[in-house]
Amino acid sequence: MKSKELSVDLRDRIVSKHKSGEGYRKISAALNVPMSTVASIIRKWKKFGTTVSLPRAGRPSKLSDRGRGTLVGEVPKDPMVALSDLQHSSEERGEPSSRTSISAAIHTSGLYGTAARRKPFLSKNSKTKQMVHQKSRRKSTPKKKMTGNVDTQFTCPFCNHEESCDVKMDRTQNVGIISCSVCLEEFLTPITYLSEPADVYGDWIAAWIAVNTPICDQP
Ligand SMILES: [Zn+2]
Repeated sequence: MKSKELSVDLRDRIVSKHKSGEGYRKISAALNVPMSTVASIIRKWKKFGTTVSLPRAGRPSKLSDRGRGTLVGEVPKDPMVALSDLQHSSEERGEPSSRTSISAAIHTSGLYGTAARRKPFLSKNSKTKQMVHQKSRRKSTPKKKMTGNVDTQFTCPFCNHEESCDVKMDRTQNVGIISCSVCLEEFLTPITYLSEPADVYGDWIAAWIAVNTPICDQP
């Protein structure tokens, strides 16, 4: 029944019947008004002490008219004032200070969109996150591939002869074989299509370190 408003007279009659102790059902039947309408008229009368349609739609403002006026007056002084500052000043006057109350008051006053949040574009936290992100990107960027002569000669960890170790990449068996032409040490490790001779050598060194480091020195 929102579209068709009841006359003030009918509303008053509903309320006076209610005051005289008549129930919703009885009022509804006597005045030929739906029960739900009777109930809502009485609810409104109890809450606002009036049966007249309130001029504004939506929930009544939590802020007092004076508080709202002061608040709205503060905005044009500094159009970029942060909502948090307005919250603070509203709080000092003992008024509600929720963001929504203040935001609603400002918007109702036609200052829509002028109160800007004073929030840095990059918070400290997101800056750190970004740095971590960049670091991880840097890490994952593919290594510069060596073109032309790929270095397959390495220093032997056993006999320390420079460039005595030769790497063979067996792409069909997916193994890398490194062997020293001086001390005849040999090492075999699984490879992928991305592996390079240096990776095989790296695996050999890692294995050599693992074997040659006393247990007590291992982390
Ligand atoms: Zn060697």
